[in-house]
Amino acid sequence: MDISQIETLRRLPVAPARHVIDGALHDASDGQVMQVVSPINGQSLTTLPRGTDADAQAAITSARCAFDDGRWSERSPAERKKVLLKWADLIEAQALELAVLGVRENGTEIAMALKAEPLSAVATIRYYAEAIDKLYGEIAPTAPGTLGLVHREPAGVVGAIVPWNFPLMIGAWKLGPALAAGCSVVLKPAETASLTLLRIAELALDAGLPPGVLNVVTGEGGTVGAAIAESMDVDVLVFTGSGATGRRLLEASARSNLKRVYLELGGKSPNVVFADAPNLDEAVKVTANGIFRNSGQVCIAGTRLLVERSIHDVFVEKLKTFSEAMTVGDPLDPATTAGAVNSQRQLQQNLEFVAEARAAGRKIVTGGTQILQDTGGYYMAPTIVTGVQPTDRLAQHEVFGPVLAVQPFDSEDEAVTLANGTDYGLAAAVWTSNLSRAHRMVRRIRAGIVHVNTYGGSDLTVPLGGVGQSGNGHDKSLHAFDKYLDLKTAWFKL
Ligand code: ADP
Repeated sequence: MDISQIETLRRLPVAPARHVIDGALHDASDGQVMQVVSPINGQSLTTLPRGTDADAQAAITSARCAFDDGRWSERSPAERKKVLLKWADLIEAQALELAVLGVRENGTEIAMALKAEPLSAVATIRYYAEAIDKLYGEIAPTAPGTLGLVHREPAGVVGAIVPWNFPLMIGAWKLGPALAAGCSVVLKPAETASLTLLRIAELALDAGLPPGVLNVVTGEGGTVGAAIAESMDVDVLVFTGSGATGRRLLEASARSNLKRVYLELGGKSPNVVFADAPNLDEAVKVTANGIFRNSGQVCIAGTRLLVERSIHDVFVEKLKTFSEAMTVGDPLDPATTAGAVNSQRQLQQNLEFVAEARAAGRKIVTGGTQILQDTGGYYMAPTIVTGVQPTDRLAQHEVFGPVLAVQPFDSEDEAVTLANGTDYGLAAAVWTSNLSRAHRMVRRIRAGIVHVNTYGGSDLTVPLGGVGQSGNGHDKSLHAFDKYLDLKTAWFKL
């Protein structure tokens, strides 16, 4: 990949985007558009269709027909695999273009976006394509004279509503297993991260995915997303985003057809550092990257640092030094370690959390401010807040920005109490040289993933999902198929 192309790609005009519905490109039914504002400089990049209810219904009808007539759902797994592998190849061939386009739209630093966006989507699609013709049904251990077969069948039409932080990665976590399983999909990208998902949907058609199997409708959550959630023709709803929207989706399911709803709702993940951490400098570096990369806009970000009191001051001092040396700024510079905040609205929310902490007497050790205003973009300095109390909003609510809340602890029991002291349960980390303690903490912390002596970096082979108000269901790994494949029993008297 020739990253010297980034400078050329960043200047390319971006044509007004269009929905992908039933294998063709469409404007909104009433012609309305919404501006795509680049967080790099606050300038308009292009427009998106402001999808209408009619657009969403057209996409759902298309997906329903595609599923029911078997043009994809009844193809053999080996045939589906072939198309999906071709799709992955086409995405890979455009990885740099897709990464730059995505960064211009959502502000993630390119070094991270390249790996976490197109290339991660490619790996994900390949993983599920390769897996689908290796999954077998079951023969039950029944009594003589009977036979019980357990089939796995595609679940139907999937509605996928995804967020703006990693549209391709999270999109592929849903699309890969759903399409491999034989489902049809209506995908609703976030308002501020739609362009790359529209592009890859076009590439899917080029790869031979039949029309109607993957539809992408852009627009507002309250219109397009709500239409998908309320539909009687959507069988499964998969979502990554906020808890508030997740609640609405469950209500919509209850009001409509009781579609299954799988939610990934973020967290307030504790990063627990004991004084016997094997290497404090490594813990400092990984802790800072675990909260400040992508300006904290990572659902599993380690947003709460719980640090043993005996090393609290030294750890915070090292963390401050490391964080202040991070390169925040132009996300299209490969040397940047934290790019732009996705939108002005998000930046404002981040700053409000800091203002509230300051007003409550908490100490802002570093950051807390907007920076690089002269660019017109939305940038925020890595922010460390100490003296945070367990009941503070900063300790309880997801900021989704580069703001780290620090709390000291005195014992393992207190660390567990603090770690589990929120409604969330997505991710966590424990830093210790004590093997027994590491295992105890893994068991005692309520979270979908507990890292030991690291943060992030787990690969596709392991599931990602939360407990508590972080949601339900899992992306990644073979377990993701459970959402898109229904079990059916065939019972025979022989
Ligand atoms: P955030 O606050 O991080 O943007 P949201 O939950 O609002 O998180 O957004 C995640 C996704 O949910 C986006 O694609 C958004 O458009 C969509 N969304 C927002 N509100 C609704 C809604 N009422 N119904 C369905 N989808 C929605």
